Amino acid sequence: MRAALYENKGVFTLVERPIPQAGPGEAVVKIELCGICGTDLHIYLEGAFPPGFVPGHENVGTVFQLGEGVQGFQVGDRVAAGPPGSCGRCYYCIHGRPSLCVTAMSETNGLSRDGGFAEYMLVKDPRQMLYPIPDSVSFEDAVLTDTVATALRGIIQSAFKMGDNVVVSGCGPIGLSAVQLVKLGGARHVTALEVVKEKRDLAARLGADLVSDPAADGDALPDRIRDLYNGVGADLVLECAGVAQSLELCFKLARAGGQVLNLGAGGKPVSVVPALLAVREIGLASSLAYTADEAKLALSYLADGRFRTDGMLSDIIPLADIVEKGLERLMADRSLVKVAVAP
Ligand SMILES: [Zn+2]
Ligand SMILES: [Zn+2]
Repeated sequence: MRAALYENKGVFTLVERPIPQAGPGEAVVKIELCGICGTDLHIYLEGAFPPGFVPGHENVGTVFQLGEGVQGFQVGDRVAAGPPGSCGRCYYCIHGRPSLCVTAMSETNGLSRDGGFAEYMLVKDPRQMLYPIPDSVSFEDAVLTDTVATALRGIIQSAFKMGDNVVVSGCGPIGLSAVQLVKLGGARHVTALEVVKEKRDLAARLGADLVSDPAADGDALPDRIRDLYNGVGADLVLECAGVAQSLELCFKLARAGGQVLNLGAGGKPVSVVPALLAVREIGLASSLAYTADEAKLALSYLADGRFRTDGMLSDIIPLADIVEKGLERLMADRSLVKVAVAP
């Protein structure tokens, strides 16, 4: 089979590999689509993980082979496959926080184990890591499961409640998902911040009540948000851009006693004055990945059409073009939302 191997920072190489074989309790999935995630860009650009594996963790496909003893799946089943790779035994797994599992990163397809930038992928624990795709959900929509579930978990982890005024900073796949999910959850008003016009327009189409360009609005933005929301600011501000400037801005947009949710998880240091956060009692929540239940919930929102996907999947490209038409292009063309690879 063909696979894109992460050989080193900036080097993804197309290689020929034998099709993996499912051992007892394992499954092999034939990959239909694999989304390119911000994490894959971090791997490609910054060498974010030790090299030597096949990336790609936003996978959908069909069950190709089942090892001895696997229950609940049949060959040919349409499935979404992704993190978390939880052990089920550590402190965090037992206490309902599997995305914090001590083995999560070393067990996850596409982040350490071989992932879906390949024709086939071995799944160690199908019970935990495969989710059936409802009949009404196409592969093109289901490939967004990872993105939707990540935003969903963040919102569940945050102090969000019905009636909140919410700001979402950054309208990539996670931000656009967050806009829709807080509206679904009963937000009173949602402002989406995004520097790229095409994404601002998409945020408005997907339900943002107001869209704004933070680069154009500059220093006036905190005052505008304060005026808009009861003269105090937003109840909840979601950082979904993954850049330091955005997180710094988020702290200025939250009302006193409000909360900032760090979903973008940028890699650069952020400058904040702790005293200013303390005086205003601003909370900070963070969230990573999602649980199996959250992935199934995301799929149910996709299945009944409550989560809208129009405009979310920008392009589908062949595996051979993953560098030029995928990774490099995502950096050059900021109007792209999600690009998926069809191996
Ligand atoms: Zn992802
Ligand atoms: Zn664990």
